[in-house]
Amino acid sequence: MKSFKEIYREAENKIAGLAAAPGIVIGKAYLFTKEKIEISKSEISNVDEAIGNLDEAVEKSKKELNKIFSIAREKMDEKRAGIFEAQLMILDDPILLENIKERIKSEKIQPEYIVADEISKYQELMIISKESYLKERALDIEDIKFRIIRNLQKKRWESKIEKEMIVVSESLTPADTLLFSRVDTLAFVTDHGGLTSHAAIISRSLNIPAIVGTHNASKIIKDGEIIIIDGFHGYILTSPTQEQIDFFKSKQQRLKELQVDLKEFKDKPARTTDGKIINLEANVDVTGEIDIVITNGAKGIGLYRSEQILNELGEYPNEDEQTNIYEKLASRIYPDVCTIRAFDIGGDKFRLFDYKEPNPFLGLRGIRFLLENKGLFKTQIRAVLKASVIKNIKFMIPMISAIEEIWETKNLINECKEELRKEKVKFDENMKLGIMVEVPSAAIMAKELASEVDFLSIGTNDLIQYMMAVDRGNDLVSNLYQEFSPVIIRTIYHIVRDAKMQNVPVSLCGEMAADTLAIPLLIGLGLDSLSISPATILYAKKIISSFSYEAAKTLADECRHSKSEKEIQEKVIKFFENNNITRTRNII
Ligand code: PEP
Ligand code: MG
Repeated sequence: MKSFKEIYREAENKIAGLAAAPGIVIGKAYLFTKEKIEISKSEISNVDEAIGNLDEAVEKSKKELNKIFSIAREKMDEKRAGIFEAQLMILDDPILLENIKERIKSEKIQPEYIVADEISKYQELMIISKESYLKERALDIEDIKFRIIRNLQKKRWESKIEKEMIVVSESLTPADTLLFSRVDTLAFVTDHGGLTSHAAIISRSLNIPAIVGTHNASKIIKDGEIIIIDGFHGYILTSPTQEQIDFFKSKQQRLKELQVDLKEFKDKPARTTDGKIINLEANVDVTGEIDIVITNGAKGIGLYRSEQILNELGEYPNEDEQTNIYEKLASRIYPDVCTIRAFDIGGDKFRLFDYKEPNPFLGLRGIRFLLENKGLFKTQIRAVLKASVIKNIKFMIPMISAIEEIWETKNLINECKEELRKEKVKFDENMKLGIMVEVPSAAIMAKELASEVDFLSIGTNDLIQYMMAVDRGNDLVSNLYQEFSPVIIRTIYHIVRDAKMQNVPVSLCGEMAADTLAIPLLIGLGLDSLSISPATILYAKKIISSFSYEAAKTLADECRHSKSEKEIQEKVIKFFENNNITRTRNII
């Protein structure tokens, strides 16, 4: 049989991208164009239902806008906040809504078309007005038009997608990725995005193969076309030949057999050949993932990205709802620990409010957002504390860049504890508090920050982005997103050493730990706890059982003194060869 290399060398129908989530899929492409909202003018048969849908969409839009407006008033000057007030006024205009409803009744066509048409008329009136103030607002109300239409289309969107398709799109948000996973999507292909963009992370956690950063796949692939996705090597084959189909079907079969082989590691600890035990925990992004965590034998949850709840629900859950979610999760994994990370809102993730920032990754993200929105933060703290009564919950703060943020957080936690005591609500008085070290300033101050908390967790996804000054989701600079850069290796070494000097446990929960190639190096750098995506846990155990801790330390020492990423990569690959370890990418 031919090798992958030969298959790809001969293939004229290949598109290259970044291998974001492993797996091989053969299936039909579904072209998803999100930005251009298509407005249908088709006829409708049920006028009452259409009017009901319109009312619902307007109500939902109002709710969304009210939330945005209240935050806008707090954060912006009156003039800019006024944009949202104008939008709300349009939604409350009885004449506009009556016109739309009358037309739905008489013309019997999709409400979305009539909404677009009527609001456009509104805009035209504003454009020709003599008031420059009104002229400016004409453009602003474009947003309200699309907000109502989006809310109107929501139902249609879900039913329109066929099940079990390969979603091909220019880009995907974490929320899109989740929604598609609900219709059993087979794989994802995007033109943009890097390996640690949140959409890529979610595909990995959901075990859905993905290829990102293809530049133009959505222009080349046709809707409904049969394609092959190779999430190990980052290639897509369009309209494959019979030879290619046979080749990849045999690889799929091989993969199935290998999964069975890995099962023997489920109940074994992750132990090096010379007896060092590594604590392997799981990153949980989606509530449903907990089953994979348990079946793969992880020793607890090292990172629960709580902001995913917001993606799943589409809104901010109240204290009781949150308590319920955290309690359920923690009791499923009990007696192992469950590390709940406070909402990491902002960057490329879920945004609760529609504010615009020129540099979201350098803006109001993680702890910065939470401290700006203390009410919201306190609701989460209280919910986590309430759930902590079963005593296996740890709480972790994202994006810490200054010690003051820890102090402020501790004050808020103490305030919440005091409130709960007064309310006679029980909680774990000793719930451990930790921080993510994922910003260069925190890495440099690791020792001082460690002295303030109970544990550290290194978030390499962001640490690499901020140390190397490369947007983690931008494929144009992905060559500089180097996890094996000496800069990163030395920084990790420094953080681990500082934490240990303070006797504070340190773990690593970035995707780097799931890149099985990095595991020996990370362990050699002194990490004895890693948190990785559940799907990788069995591979990781197999790898850890193939080398000695002593050899890993020597490897890490050599790498720390290297000058370039290439030099380190070569050393690591040689280590795998010398120890006869098969890399994930080579397993098939
Ligand atoms: C990280 O930055 O490494 C991390 C684990 O957090 P996230 O990917 O959610 O930003
Ligand atoms: Mg992070």
